[in-house]
Amino acid sequence: MLRSALLAASRSPQVRTMVEKFPPTHAIVERFVAGDRLDQGVSATETLVSSGRKVTLDHLGEDTKDAEQAAATALAYEHLLTALKETGLAADAEVSVKLSAVGQFLPVDGEKIALENARRICQAAADAGTTVTLDMEDHTTTDSTLGIARELRADFPWLGVVLQAYLRRTEADCRDLAHEGSRVRICKGAYKEPESVAFQGKREVDLAYVRALKVLMAGQGYPMVASHDPNMIKIAGQLAEWNRRDVTSFEYQMLFGIRPEEQLRLAEAGNTMRVYLPYGQEWYGYFMRRLAERPANLTFFLRAMATR
Ligand code: FAD
Repeated sequence: MLRSALLAASRSPQVRTMVEKFPPTHAIVERFVAGDRLDQGVSATETLVSSGRKVTLDHLGEDTKDAEQAAATALAYEHLLTALKETGLAADAEVSVKLSAVGQFLPVDGEKIALENARRICQAAADAGTTVTLDMEDHTTTDSTLGIARELRADFPWLGVVLQAYLRRTEADCRDLAHEGSRVRICKGAYKEPESVAFQGKREVDLAYVRALKVLMAGQGYPMVASHDPNMIKIAGQLAEWNRRDVTSFEYQMLFGIRPEEQLRLAEAGNTMRVYLPYGQEWYGYFMRRLAERPANLTFFLRAMATR
């Protein structure tokens, strides 16, 4: 119930205006977001990299209905990638992009505009010597996102995509994408989805995550294990061993601000541990999904609001 309400609120302009009016939320937001500005994203990247972790940066934004804003987001990514190149961080930091932030939902030619904007970002990443992963949003975008990824991979074969274990289709998508050179981030899924397309209960989703991991670890691609769940992390390690995978042939990923000690433990054990690091002013949707994932975060948030 609470999860559903928070996920509904994450897409409500009215609730968004209300939440954004309270500056103290910034203290809470900072737990999950590096800051408003590019230099704060770069500086947080430097800190993470110096502790042995890799990074994937997200210039926050999603669901834009404005072509100029979509182009501005692509430009912001180009600036970010130039900064990563100039600071020497590009070897350890890539970027994550939401296609809805670069035009996928525009009423006219949305997919075409998103493809062209994403192409600009991929070209900037290639120039900087790093990679891009396309985030996955709600299930209505899955076919479109995988289609755009397919087109981009013709020129940028290193482009990564995300699959969400809670979707019933995902095991089959994993089979399609478990080929050589394919970078797939497997996560549980963060949106409110109907039962017709998605498993609903934690146990069902966890079992689906394990099935997806089995396919990806047995395949020829590069699995990116995005989870904070100790069971999923343990099973991923075991599957890597059973499939005789070298530690360089897959990686773990977690969100900035969540289980940092576990991030360090995995990195210190010799694994590639990548932190998803968001920055920018459009933190609302991202932040609300983090609240929905864990009720304890909501208590923390409400307590801070009450003491402002
Ligand atoms: P859960 O069962 O939700 O959590 C396991 C444990 O992790 C919890 O008990 C708690 O200790 C800790 N934990 C989990 N979430 C939180 C939190 N918010 N705050 C504090 N502790 C927490 N989803 C998408 O739909 N599309 C994407 O493109 C996408 N990209 C992602 C990229 C990365 C690198 C990661 C790590 C996640 C991404 N997600 C994405 C989110 C993902 O789908 C899940 O919603 C999220 O990771 C929580 O699932 P979990 O696997 O950690 O397991």
